[in-house]
Amino acid sequence: MYDYLIVGSGLFGSVFAHEAKARGKKCLVVERRGHTGGNIYCEEKDGIRIHKYGAHIFHTSYKEVWEYANRFVEFNHYVNSPVANYKGELYNLPFNMNTFSKLWGVVTPKEAAEKIAEQRSAIGGEPQNLEEQAISLVGTDIYRKLIKGYTEKQWGRDCRELPAFIIKRLPVRYTFDNNYFNDRYQGIPIGGYNRLIEALLEGIEVRLGVDFNEKREELLPLAEKVVYTGPIDAYFGYSEGQLEYRGLRFETERLEEENHQGVAVMNYTEREVPYTRSIEHKHFEFGTGPVTYVTKEYPADWKPGEEAYYPVNDARNQELYGKYASLAKKEEKVIFGGRLAEYKYYDMDDVILSALQRAEEELGNGKD
Ligand code: FAD
Ligand code: UDP
Repeated sequence: MYDYLIVGSGLFGSVFAHEAKARGKKCLVVERRGHTGGNIYCEEKDGIRIHKYGAHIFHTSYKEVWEYANRFVEFNHYVNSPVANYKGELYNLPFNMNTFSKLWGVVTPKEAAEKIAEQRSAIGGEPQNLEEQAISLVGTDIYRKLIKGYTEKQWGRDCRELPAFIIKRLPVRYTFDNNYFNDRYQGIPIGGYNRLIEALLEGIEVRLGVDFNEKREELLPLAEKVVYTGPIDAYFGYSEGQLEYRGLRFETERLEEENHQGVAVMNYTEREVPYTRSIEHKHFEFGTGPVTYVTKEYPADWKPGEEAYYPVNDARNQELYGKYASLAKKEEKVIFGGRLAEYKYYDMDDVILSALQRAEEELGNGKD
């Protein structure tokens, strides 16, 4: 008999499993895919680690999460500084003095702020949607060249129908600083993300290629409790209706070239180019070999049964999620956690923090 049946071997499941084992509990992890790690899994080719489910950069301001992750892996000094490509014009991201200077020829922060203030006046009152929020943060020129096209292809809907919070993730700075994140700690695990997951799951039984929702009768009697990190609507057999997600399609090419685009992440911000990002994986780890791998990331409509990448946190879906969350509260022997079970736009550090907190609530503070 196991103490915990853990459904999903992504970061949430793996951190919880590690913490439970450290407190003397016996865990079984079941994973639908043919590998562990969920969306942070990387595939290695020609010595380059390819971020198979989208580029992942670890960044956090939670000291405890940084220290926790560093118990399992060391991080390199990678700092994410994507470049936006709008019809062949290149701009630094996030929106900062380098962007403003290239766009308007402004030199000082005061000039940039004046330009934005002038353009912002198009919006009065509290921003009601992503378009209004974006214009009020950076003005109409940046909205038109660097936000509108990217966002509408990413989410498959008009910027006026999207929640404002999505764009608030991006810093706006009046300094010459191309660091995409404001967080204190950042990097890519030395040796790759798989190493982090392998270290977390060391000594824990994992069964790959097992879908909990298909094998429920067989699996449930094996454990006292369940930790479920799959989609919450699937757990309840879609009884309240289906939650919507945004899908992605990745196209990866091997190129006989040392350096294809000179940066790990290039964003294609015009509507006409069908992909949003082009990722050159070797730059995450400062690779210098003779070949390179480049992945184009195409946003896609999502259909049930496909990988669910991004929750669509609009009003309709949040309301539906609320119904599932109430059902989840009644399941006393099940802990729901992670990006899919909580239907949240969580970053990796949020997921680790949340798994540590849930483990502590559940198991107490008996650290290893
Ligand atoms: P997942 O990684 O999704 O793990 C859930 C696991 O459960 C999966 O392995 C799945 O196969 C399995 N599963 C689901 N249902 C079942 C079932 N019925 N039976 C068995 N197994 C099941 N975060 C950052 O901090 N920085 C970034 O740069 C970043 N970039 C991202 C880019 C993209 C394109 C995406 C989609 C996300 C990105 N994230 C990033 C977020 C990050 O991926 C997540 O925060 C984190 O991986 C979520 O971990 P999780 O365990 O909650 O979910
Ligand atoms: N965004 C944009 N232009 C860019 C990059 C991002 O308009 O060049 C917007 C877009 O709406 C996106 C949001 O900012 O969904 C958040 O971007 P982030 O890079 O944090 O998205 P993620 O890494 O989660 O895909």
